[in-house]
Amino acid sequence: MDVDKLIELEIRVRDTLAQLEQEIAEGEKAAPPGKLDGTEGRLSRQDSLMHHEIAKNAQQRRLAFREALRATLTRMDEGTYGYCAKCGAPIELERLEACPETLLCAACAGLK
Ligand SMILES: [Zn+2]
Repeated sequence: MDVDKLIELEIRVRDTLAQLEQEIAEGEKAAPPGKLDGTEGRLSRQDSLMHHEIAKNAQQRRLAFREALRATLTRMDEGTYGYCAKCGAPIELERLEACPETLLCAACAGLK
């Protein structure tokens, strides 16, 4: 991959990561269910738990995405970025542009 393209993708990954870090910080505040004191009744209690579950799931997705982005930056540092984790072939540039953290070439991802 040419260096300019790699730098462009790295900047994009870093931007996405910075934005994600903010969302994670906000998610940490949103995740606690608020103390239930037993006076809210069964329905609102279920409602509150459900919202907590949704917030928790969203947060877990963000944390997993953050790991993927960090791993991407590590591969960029190591010089292994852009090669399929399964077969070792270069990953198609259009795949990397659409999704810079992708690990697999189109064939290994089952798209060919
Ligand atoms: Zn592959």
